[in-house]
Amino acid sequence: MEAKLIVRMLEKMEIIDVNQMIEEFESTTKDAGRVQRETLKKILEENGSAEYLQNLGLNGSTDPESFKACVPLVTHQDLEPYIHRITDGDTSPILTGKAITTISLSSGTTQGKPKLVPFNDELMETTMQIFRTSFAFRNREFPVGNGKALQFIYSSKQFKTKGGLNAGTATTNVYRSSQFKEEMKGMQSQYCSPDEVIFGPDFHQSLYCHLLCGLIFRGEIQSVFSPFAHSLVHAFRTFELVWEELCADIREGELSCRITVPSIRTAMSKILKPDPESADLIHKKCSGLSNWYGLIPELFPNAKYIYGIMTGSMEPYLKKLRHYAGDVPLMSADYGSSEGWIGANVNPTLPPELVTFAVLPNIGYFEFIPLSENVEEQVLGIEPKPVGLTEVKVGEEYEIVVTNVAGLYRYRLGDVVKIMGFHNSTPELKFVCRRNLMLNINIDKNTEKDLQLSVEEATKVLAEEKLEVVDFTSHVDLSTDPGHYVIFWEISGEVHLHEEALQECCNCLDRSFLDAGYIGSRKVNAIGPLELRVLQKGTFQKILDHYLGLGAAGSQFKTPRCVSLANNTVLQILCNNVAKNYFSTAFR
Ligand code: AMP
Repeated sequence: MEAKLIVRMLEKMEIIDVNQMIEEFESTTKDAGRVQRETLKKILEENGSAEYLQNLGLNGSTDPESFKACVPLVTHQDLEPYIHRITDGDTSPILTGKAITTISLSSGTTQGKPKLVPFNDELMETTMQIFRTSFAFRNREFPVGNGKALQFIYSSKQFKTKGGLNAGTATTNVYRSSQFKEEMKGMQSQYCSPDEVIFGPDFHQSLYCHLLCGLIFRGEIQSVFSPFAHSLVHAFRTFELVWEELCADIREGELSCRITVPSIRTAMSKILKPDPESADLIHKKCSGLSNWYGLIPELFPNAKYIYGIMTGSMEPYLKKLRHYAGDVPLMSADYGSSEGWIGANVNPTLPPELVTFAVLPNIGYFEFIPLSENVEEQVLGIEPKPVGLTEVKVGEEYEIVVTNVAGLYRYRLGDVVKIMGFHNSTPELKFVCRRNLMLNINIDKNTEKDLQLSVEEATKVLAEEKLEVVDFTSHVDLSTDPGHYVIFWEISGEVHLHEEALQECCNCLDRSFLDAGYIGSRKVNAIGPLELRVLQKGTFQKILDHYLGLGAAGSQFKTPRCVSLANNTVLQILCNNVAKNYFSTAFR
């Protein structure tokens, strides 16, 4: 009995066969069209008894043509009545054949409040499949040995819905699963922190302890990870502030009194032992760095790479991350959402700016709404006509529509992607932006990406002063006549020492929105001068804290890039913390 158990345990711990994983991926992507049909068939067969599908008159059909004819395109809002019945405890087959028992909270940084989406074992399995796939490609280039991973991962607040379902962020649902731990062993990426740190109730205490665990196991750390680059940068910015305290903890073998959660203290006491030698070494290494350049390899000499999502709204953090990373390669992680995963980064050596995602045709059924045709259809109120996974055209932009294994059918995710090429017969996508994130006053339309590019331009002016933008967001202010764009910046230096440069940044921001509608409106003053509001230090920390309070997980956090009046609390935090504002003189 015991021997059997050990064999089973060993089996479970088996390291992933990289070549086999890659072969599997190559084979599923060779005939992506067929795999898509099969995947749709499987999803519809498994969930055929769901009320939602029954009411749409599919009558057991599982082919894409009938599916498209019977099932409408939906948004999250359309599904809310169904999801609410599920969260209220109705266990009848509503969206899925098998009752949903877990709910994911999307990070909610775009709409201001988290969306609730169904989560189940099948979604967990597709998550692991995508993790394994990209690991295989990553490991082929940069094999990790036996060691540990410093993973800045956090559980969100978990709660029960009215009907008793477990609810937390998607990442929390993943981390809570026993399968996750096993899979991490298979990828030789076991996190170095105890579970109590990941599942601790206080993000700041967990972060401190992740850093401490990283230092304790520093020689063994093979990779540094967080789901999103924001939280990697946030972690090392925090390190800059607490490093001496961390060294003191290691020297004395005594955990800082800032850690007050008893379960974390107990768990940490098992691994923290007095080690003055190591403390001195770390202290010396940190003191020797110039402005923290190359901090990561200095602390973790065996780290092979830094891993996390670095694309899309995470791109603005790359500069700082590269600074900390020195010569350790950055590898951008996969593309997905709480609603399910979409594509894997199978070219891990590409710099994050060039990363594309190869869609896994067997983890969901994917459709693409062409954006070029869409404008006309929108005006006429015609339902857009999406194309299938293998029908997309290189160079075109699309809004992505997902049918997943957890009760979402033809669901508009709200993301815009561009087709960059094909891997076998599956498309390789580039993430462009969130579709609904838009700065818009009259005929102007500026997306999250446009904002990002404009900030990037203005950052160059700031860089001449050796300053950086810590984080940024925007707002359309219609309280003035005409309305105008407001850009909020938190910067690394003192505002009053750089007034002239900041005025130039403001002008540069205004000039760098290249949308014809914006430029035209600015020229005739149909849109007022852009306003740059420079924030007091720590404002974005307050915003992060606000979202953590709402139940977000620190590692899934994305700074909202456009804050509307509807997101009143965040807007208030921003407006109450303005150190200085500037109006553009660019179009005078
Ligand atoms: P959430 O459901 O809170 O995890 O957020 C999912 C959203 O994050 C997606 O819809 C995308 O807008 C964004 N996202 C996820 N993965 C990536 C990626 N690899 N690159 C850029 N944006 C991403």
